[in-house]
Amino acid sequence: MREFADNTSCARRPLVDALRSALSPMTDLPSIYVFDFDQTITHIHTGGCAMTEDEIGADYIHSNIKGGFVELMECLQQRGDRVYIATYGDDSFGRGFAGATAGHALVQRYMDTVLGTGQQYFVASEDPPGNIIARCSNDGKHYHLECILAREGLDGNDLTVLRRILLIDDDPFNVSYFASRGCMTLVPDSPHDSARMAADPDILRAILDRLRGHAEAKAH
Ligand SMILES: [Mg+2]
Repeated sequence: MREFADNTSCARRPLVDALRSALSPMTDLPSIYVFDFDQTITHIHTGGCAMTEDEIGADYIHSNIKGGFVELMECLQQRGDRVYIATYGDDSFGRGFAGATAGHALVQRYMDTVLGTGQQYFVASEDPPGNIIARCSNDGKHYHLECILAREGLDGNDLTVLRRILLIDDDPFNVSYFASRGCMTLVPDSPHDSARMAADPDILRAILDRLRGHAEAKAH
């Protein structure tokens, strides 16, 4: 039984190995993936607000998205998993700045650029709620988790529900909060290691390798 696709790069192998122990047992993979935006999906922190045209230009956005993002979203959609982007980048960050793009609009701009205009993966609307949740709640992303549970129609007191939710976030405070609710983290029992792993430039490809390895192993 092979665990990994042949194209797993040597450089990525330690990360994928770490995920193998994190995302196990193999029958218990998450079904709701919650991604932080800045420095988890992006390389460089946007500050939740773009002030210039260059910062929302296609060249910059493509250069600032971590490798494997598009393939990972395609893979998760094919699997039927649910995907969210949960960020502290807030619409209010752009107020008072002419031409600024902030909060929901900034994440939507990134998604439309990398996934294509008219993409069906991410919606930034608040009413009805979409799967881009942008609010500077500074509460460990309690607000974001409640939005996700409400949108999915799930019971936030049901541990079997919560343990199918995985947070990928480079802020240990947020990871710690999700863990306290019973959600999955990249590294069990270590918010700091989970956050460090989420910040890795190869994290998205590593999750993709892990999922492909899972599918391959299942087929054997
Ligand atoms: Mg972040």
